[in-house]
Amino acid sequence: MDSDRFLESHVDVVLRKGNYFPDVLLRMAANESRACPFVSDEGCTVYPDRPDTCRTFPVEHGMLLNDRTGASEIISFFRPPDFCQGKHEDRALTVAQWAQDQEADTYNQMTARWAAIRTLFQKDPWGPEGLNGARAKMAFMAAYNIDRFRDFVFQSSFLKRYRIKRTLAAKIRASDRQLLLFGFEWIRYFVWGIPSRNIRA
Ligand code: SF4
Repeated sequence: MDSDRFLESHVDVVLRKGNYFPDVLLRMAANESRACPFVSDEGCTVYPDRPDTCRTFPVEHGMLLNDRTGASEIISFFRPPDFCQGKHEDRALTVAQWAQDQEADTYNQMTARWAAIRTLFQKDPWGPEGLNGARAKMAFMAAYNIDRFRDFVFQSSFLKRYRIKRTLAAKIRASDRQLLLFGFEWIRYFVWGIPSRNIRA
């Protein structure tokens, strides 16, 4: 399923109070159970590709932002709900060991990187054009619609407008992860004017 179709069929877009970039939330079943659309009687139907939150559960991550210095720090919470069967396990693991056990390291890192960018959007970068303007739509695409962003980078005049090293272009063409990291960097550069080593006009 490409990211356009995924966004259309499985995602709700919400704008939280006090923030200027929308979040995307997995759309739960439209019935009383409000269950995840990927759960079946046999369990998770997308288990090898399950999202970060599912890998990390019942640990939750947050970000502590120092208003004065601007530095941020990842903090972890462990508050398993009553239905969590893991509470009855004898095995004790640290947060890092649990992330490794669930192959969540890369997912955790990507979430943390995105969280750092999200904090920028506590200020409004859009001005009068608002969230329906072209800049906001392009940033949304870079953050959430990876297949459309790949087309944008490689099939529009993007590579004529921006100077990007050939080695980096090859990397982002070959890897979704590299493309997403590049999208994060491009949002910082394009929306906030934060200098980038990899992107030059
Ligand atoms: S592990 Fe996550 S994606 Fe899979 S069924 Fe459970 S909630 Fe859904």
